[in-house]
Amino acid sequence: MYMSSPLIPFVDLQAQYQALKPQIQQRINAVLDHGQYIMGPEVRELEERLEAYTGAKHCITCASGTEALLISLMALGIGAGDEVITTPFTFAATAEMIVLLGAKPVFVDVEPDTCNINVALIEAKITPKTRAIMPVSLYGQAADMDEINAIAARHGKLAVIEDAAQSFGAEYKGRKSCNLSTFGCTSFFPSKPLGCYGDGGALFTNDDALALACREIRVHGQSRRYVHSRIGLGGRMDTLQCAVVLAKLERFEWEIARRMELGQLYNETLDALGLTRVQQRADRNSVYGQYTVLVDNRDVVQKKLKDAGIPTAVHYPVPLNLQPAYAHFCCADCTPHAASVAKRVMSLPMHPDLSNLEVNRIASALAETTV
Ligand SMILES: *Cc1c(COP(=O)(O)O)cnc(C)c1O
Repeated sequence: MYMSSPLIPFVDLQAQYQALKPQIQQRINAVLDHGQYIMGPEVRELEERLEAYTGAKHCITCASGTEALLISLMALGIGAGDEVITTPFTFAATAEMIVLLGAKPVFVDVEPDTCNINVALIEAKITPKTRAIMPVSLYGQAADMDEINAIAARHGKLAVIEDAAQSFGAEYKGRKSCNLSTFGCTSFFPSKPLGCYGDGGALFTNDDALALACREIRVHGQSRRYVHSRIGLGGRMDTLQCAVVLAKLERFEWEIARRMELGQLYNETLDALGLTRVQQRADRNSVYGQYTVLVDNRDVVQKKLKDAGIPTAVHYPVPLNLQPAYAHFCCADCTPHAASVAKRVMSLPMHPDLSNLEVNRIASALAETTV
């Protein structure tokens, strides 16, 4: 009987494309017609739109969310001998860019209920080498950014970089994610809350000097054409991808509102069924970049849901400090909550074109598999 259940997409980029087809095609055709594939007018147009949206003074688009993190760290001059405090319960790119620059990631454990960095544990990890704190707004919900900013200010103005790859559009005490700290870095990977049709990303700051540094780093450290004032990289976002994001902005407010509505429906339905889920704090709105629950016997639950036409994913199965490439930065049992939630987290289908009926079907199927 399960076999007749229609498959629910984990994310539905096709439905979104169908809803925006004329706008997307018009925007893409405009780029093909004017031919400025690198740093065309759509690049600055998108940056201005995103500055207005987030309230941040500067938006600098980048080749990806990973490059946004890298460029931010480079603009701060972080490198060999420096330490950056971050969470081990994230996608590898967060800590990877710290290591790539020769600095050391210092892993701080997470809160077991939100899976975000536990701010109460940060200060004990600050040393004279600490240069920055890099929290992740995991699953679309900001970390305790004001507390993190206050800790950073108390310790000689450490920089704070929000890895907001999953949280574009989220709010924290009425302010937008990406505009909560020294830098906010987001990703336009297709499945993120605001996605393009390839790789893309952006970083945000209110600091004029850092913004200028990031703009130069993005184009091989050039302050003018062929004047290389600093070491940079090729980190631009394609004009075509900026055009895609511009078209998608037409539906973005609706999509974010719908994500929040669906997240709320999931919360209420799962709570009523007595299931365990990632918790939301009252002073912030998650955009549910992922909708994530905690289950025991995850492999079995995933298999049963798959048979019922419900795809799931695991973000993330192994914390970074237990990964081969990062293990030497932190003892294996230093972050017990990260180790524990990594064994239990499971993300359910979440996208703005999901229906209330589908949420109910997913919640009931989950309740059946976990009894
Ligand atoms: C997706 C993601 C990134 C990387 O973004 P890309 O655009 O794929 O480079 C970094 N950090 C987190 C938390 C992410 O989810």
